[in-house]
Amino acid sequence: MGRIRVLTERVANQIAAGEVVERPASVCKELIENSLDAGATQLRIELARGGRSLIKVSDNGCGMNRDDAMLAFERHATSKLRSAGDLLAIATLGFRGEALPSIASVSRVTLRTRAVDQEAGTLVEIHGGRMKDVRDAALAPGTSVSVRNLFFNVPARRKFLRTERTELSHAVRMATHYSLAHLGKSLQLRNERGSLLSVTPVSTLRERVYQVFGGDALDRLVEIEPAQGQKHRIGGFVSEPQAQRRNRHSIYVFVNRRLVRDSLIQKAIGRAYESMMPKGVFPFALLFLEIPPEEVDVNVHPAKTEVRFRNPTQVFELVRSAIRGRLVAAKPASGLPPPGQIAQQESVPASAEAASPLPSVGAGGLPGTRATPASGRLGIPAWSDFQPAAPPPGSVPVPSSAEEPDEAGPPLEVKREVALHSRSPLADRQPANLGELGRLRLLGQLHDSFIVAAGDDGVWIIDQHVAHERILFEKVLQARLSGRPQMQRLLDPIVITLTPGQDVAYEGLAEEFLGNGFEIEPFGGRTVAIKATPAELPPRDVESLIHELLDDSREAGRGLTLGQMRKRMAATIACHAAIKVNMPLSEEKMRWLLEQLARTDCPMSCPHGRPIALRYGTREILKAFHRT
Ligand code: ADP
Ligand code: MG
Repeated sequence: MGRIRVLTERVANQIAAGEVVERPASVCKELIENSLDAGATQLRIELARGGRSLIKVSDNGCGMNRDDAMLAFERHATSKLRSAGDLLAIATLGFRGEALPSIASVSRVTLRTRAVDQEAGTLVEIHGGRMKDVRDAALAPGTSVSVRNLFFNVPARRKFLRTERTELSHAVRMATHYSLAHLGKSLQLRNERGSLLSVTPVSTLRERVYQVFGGDALDRLVEIEPAQGQKHRIGGFVSEPQAQRRNRHSIYVFVNRRLVRDSLIQKAIGRAYESMMPKGVFPFALLFLEIPPEEVDVNVHPAKTEVRFRNPTQVFELVRSAIRGRLVAAKPASGLPPPGQIAQQESVPASAEAASPLPSVGAGGLPGTRATPASGRLGIPAWSDFQPAAPPPGSVPVPSSAEEPDEAGPPLEVKREVALHSRSPLADRQPANLGELGRLRLLGQLHDSFIVAAGDDGVWIIDQHVAHERILFEKVLQARLSGRPQMQRLLDPIVITLTPGQDVAYEGLAEEFLGNGFEIEPFGGRTVAIKATPAELPPRDVESLIHELLDDSREAGRGLTLGQMRKRMAATIACHAAIKVNMPLSEEKMRWLLEQLARTDCPMSCPHGRPIALRYGTREILKAFHRT
């Protein structure tokens, strides 16, 4: 007898479950997608113990008749595809007919469903892939699927589940994703302790963002409005460069309303923030790409979160230029973090910072400080960081049980109620544009380092060094590209001896030095004479600058494109040439700085990603004085 055997259906399903069902959140995902595909307008999701003991999704969609209810658990049984041709342009979220049988093979599932045109409903019970019960049941139209004891029969998989809190956080993030992509639906998510997310139908993404993340979050986002009439479109929201996170959890990307994880798009987002945001931190982004279905293949992986684009370069450029363009136009201002947040930051141990893979948001603009682990642990961005210490009404704190170190942190606060009618109406929110900087009323200089000024709507504090750095950076880069650097001839050449490594690096960079206005001549051995430098550079800084540029290029060297290398060089020159802190400035000089800064493309951040200007808005001032 041969050794090869066809696997039983149950084993095949369990194997498929390995790919489709990773954790409670993946069950949520499949069930939510099914409800949406069924045309539901109301979805209710219930979780117990982070989804480990129960995940229940109920909807008011089309429902199923008895035959379909049983067929739904057969492998490759789907109502969404008829032929292989349909695969080329998939309009539904599901299509593989794998989710229900996979889930049912590794849990105890109860399906309750009634088609709108049927008298009676059907209840199907399946445990570990074995049909236990099928019977009529009195039900309202629609479907509910309860998944209990996930992986009860696969101990190996159960062991891979993380703590309840982590699993809950993944599930909440999943539900949040779908709530953002489906504005016309109402969606409720609750667990043992109460409501975690609740949204009602709205007509704009702006309103939905307001419902889910709250108004303070919205203030830190700029909207990308999709260009009309194009085949490839992109819309959504991205954060101002100073709202930084330490990981990518706050990047939500949808392609044709399907949630995807795509490294190409992640890269394009990173490039859009280049020289606005430091390396190693990430923005908040909520992006919706619309791409003709025939140009994107979603059938790449069973979980359907990976896609393949027919024209990746075009998609990359679409994402990068849309975000960059919007940021440059909106020039969003950073606010000051409320006092409570500063205290919280200082109390964070460095080890926790390094370890946490979970979402957190930047300091909202304290130079030198960066992202801190804070609330928002459960996949909802930690925008509550920007709110007063007391939780807003309607938010439900989730207990922070004893957890792995990376899970510790203040409780989640998610806006529970639709807040459209609450204190600060949506329409009032006008983000400050840094283009305004040139028109501010100068109030003075603080510590010989910061310019203080008043605008139409608040008080501004501008860091004079980074402001000048940004102005010079854009100027140096521009001059390099146009081939007309401004030079200054030195009275006495500066003679520098290079290390052997620097000498090698210099050979590769000689042209760039020239292009930036340096005139450097060999002076025998590893010694060079600098005869001219970029115009703004103080001669006493020249030597250290040259060493820095050469060492830097050696370290970063390979892997940088010419464009990136030029940016680094421009940033280093700008940093050395810029006005320092602790330097008194005349009124004219301050005014000049503000006007020049207003004209730059990115007055938000210095080339290394630090904030330049902070605004203490009138609304925050009123709030702080309890006048609202
Ligand atoms: P797929 O979604 O890929 O078709 P599933 O295993 O997720 O595969 O579901 C199988 C079938 O069960 C679906 O094609 C659909 O016809 C039916 N179904 C599943 N969930 C629902 C629901 N909530 N409402 C109505 N029909 C559903
Ligand atoms: Mg499905």
